[in-house]
Amino acid sequence: MIEPLEPQARLDQIVKLIAKHMETEVCSLYVLRADGVLELYATEGLNPGSVHLAQLRLGEGLVGTIAATARPLNLSDAQNHPAFTYLPETGEEIYATFLGVPVLRAGRTLGVLVVQNKAAGRVYPEEESEAFETVAMVIAEMIAAGGLEGLSRPGVTLDLTRPVSFEGLPLCDGIGIGRVVLHEPRVIVSSLFNEDVDSEVSRLTEALAILRQSIESMLSRRDVADEGEHRAVLETYRKFAQDRGWVRRLEEAVRNGLTAEAAVEKVQSDMRARMMHLTDPYIRERLHDFDDLANRLLRQLIGQAGAGNAVSDAVVVARNMGAAELLDYHRGQIKGLVLEEGAATSHVVIVARALGIPVAGQVKGVVSMSENGDPIVVDGESGDVHLRPPPEVHELFADKLGFRAERQQRYRSLREVPAKTRDGAAIGLQMNAGLLVDLPQLDESGAEGIGLFRTELQFMVASTMPRASDQERLYRAVIDAAGEKPVTFRTLDVGGDKLLPYLAHGPEQNPALGYRAMRLALDRPGLLRTQLRALLKAATGRNVKIMFPMVTDLAEIDAARSLIDRELQHLERFGYTRPKELQLGAMLEVPSLLYQLDPLMGMLDFVSIGSNDLFQFFFAVDRGNANVATRYDDLSVPFLRALRDVALAGERHGVPVSLCGEMAGRPLSAMALIGLGFRSISMAPPSIGPVKAMLLELDAQKLRDEFAELLDDPNEAGSARGFLKDFAERHRIPY
Ligand code: PEP
Ligand code: MG
Repeated sequence: MIEPLEPQARLDQIVKLIAKHMETEVCSLYVLRADGVLELYATEGLNPGSVHLAQLRLGEGLVGTIAATARPLNLSDAQNHPAFTYLPETGEEIYATFLGVPVLRAGRTLGVLVVQNKAAGRVYPEEESEAFETVAMVIAEMIAAGGLEGLSRPGVTLDLTRPVSFEGLPLCDGIGIGRVVLHEPRVIVSSLFNEDVDSEVSRLTEALAILRQSIESMLSRRDVADEGEHRAVLETYRKFAQDRGWVRRLEEAVRNGLTAEAAVEKVQSDMRARMMHLTDPYIRERLHDFDDLANRLLRQLIGQAGAGNAVSDAVVVARNMGAAELLDYHRGQIKGLVLEEGAATSHVVIVARALGIPVAGQVKGVVSMSENGDPIVVDGESGDVHLRPPPEVHELFADKLGFRAERQQRYRSLREVPAKTRDGAAIGLQMNAGLLVDLPQLDESGAEGIGLFRTELQFMVASTMPRASDQERLYRAVIDAAGEKPVTFRTLDVGGDKLLPYLAHGPEQNPALGYRAMRLALDRPGLLRTQLRALLKAATGRNVKIMFPMVTDLAEIDAARSLIDRELQHLERFGYTRPKELQLGAMLEVPSLLYQLDPLMGMLDFVSIGSNDLFQFFFAVDRGNANVATRYDDLSVPFLRALRDVALAGERHGVPVSLCGEMAGRPLSAMALIGLGFRSISMAPPSIGPVKAMLLELDAQKLRDEFAELLDDPNEAGSARGFLKDFAERHRIPY
């Protein structure tokens, strides 16, 4: 491998050496091309003239079968195997014994390595087959290192460098062009062969012991000790780390000559390749756990802390990540985020949106197809991701980026234009926020105020409970930044999918329906009182709006109000000035409130619909479960009727009603809301421009009238999306 040879000469030399050492008559290497063809790249024993000419498609013949299934074939009578195909140019019909293994790297098949013998009846023993797989791994590194491309016909590209496009979910608008940074970078194993088996086995044993110990200490930490999901995952880690089969395979690989780290990589690569074909989501999830575990073990062996990559145009590619992990990266470096999982309301996505990072989610397979440094384009508008894009695609997106910059410029020029429909209805466009990083957007977007400040984000990005003084400092900074603009703080909305690692939480069957938000806050009033006190102190002498999440029962509003009264008295006793004006509101997120709208309105200064949750409960569809999250339409007639009922109840009682879920930020849905009677909505800051551009062209009354006809028709069901699009198109409204 280290001899200074030209690539072809090196391959020729390798197959020759293998044939010699394995005492076989034939050794051949096939490399997978981007067009799905396996091309013979080198052979010892077959007709040398067939190199770069002999070809098999994926799934064709024995070689194609090995590549397609990522499994070795060890045969004593190859010609009689049902998949056998005879390639006349190679003259291989006389070889009965056949051993072929996939050339795998990080679970991807890059080619196939084969040895053959004339004598029938011989089977390669298990150890030989294992050793052969190891050699294939070395060849995989060689293919990945490049330099083989030029050996074939001009224009041939290898599968490894093939451009791949993925269709994902658009989670945050924008276009990101850059280079892949794998969030948990696969550890690069550079030393492959051990010098001394015994000392390598003890290295492995030691690393395994440390791994197990670290899992044990994780499990005994108080903050994870009794937490459902988290705990279950860690328990599986423990089980896997003890798995005898896994340990045996690792040891075997070391005994076959690999270093401990190369053994981990090999065993993991085999497992991934085999399990990738399975579709059972449970098994695939487990595979991810095993991957994580193997990565930990690798880091342990190599002594790497898994540090991130410091490129300036990073597109972070991850299976999934926490909101705090995203904040570990420097904002200026990140051009985009690509997740294999993730949904519009995952918190990492919400944070990415606050930072204006384009995000595509549900991009299946992107992690294993990517290498650090690969060029990549993420289109947060469509959800498409282009890995290693050809120059035309790259150019197209560079143009699109420029075009979007122009459009952004246009939106910026709308910033000072009042948000009024063509027929003069003033619409309050507010923005959602939750972190200090969001605040500059208040001016940049031209939002009228902050319609939803998610206070739990401060708690979620912290590793320990924020102190009262930290909370107060943040709230004061927000009110200062807003100046004359109104701010609506939502009290802590934790529990459900928003777990705080430092807050003990029992396992729940249905966390979204469980011990969360107001339910938790009223049972443990200490947390809520601390927060209310911090809010009231920060707002002393100024205006502030406070709203409560997930209200289900009107008694919860009374209980919350009496907590506020107590805090106000407390502050007065200690000489603080009250807020100049304090308004109290509730989020309408639970359908139970839809049937008590009149008394609800009677108790409050304002109401804001949390359409993300309301939609989830209305359709009984888990907002975080990608299999169902996009199944139903938030522009469906029954849901819109519910929203309209709230808007009408607000009108009846003179109580302002707003909506602050994600649908407010989509121009077509925002148009629907105006047609239902909403005069205030709150959205992510980048949506304000597009929504304003829409409403400037809208005749609100006309839409309301036409829309009412549809919604009032008792036989009308299904989605109103078609009607709304048609309306927008007829009136040249940009949506
Ligand atoms: C909602 O549920 O619509 C909402 C705005 O709150 P969150 O997304 O934080 O649950
Ligand atoms: Mg909510």
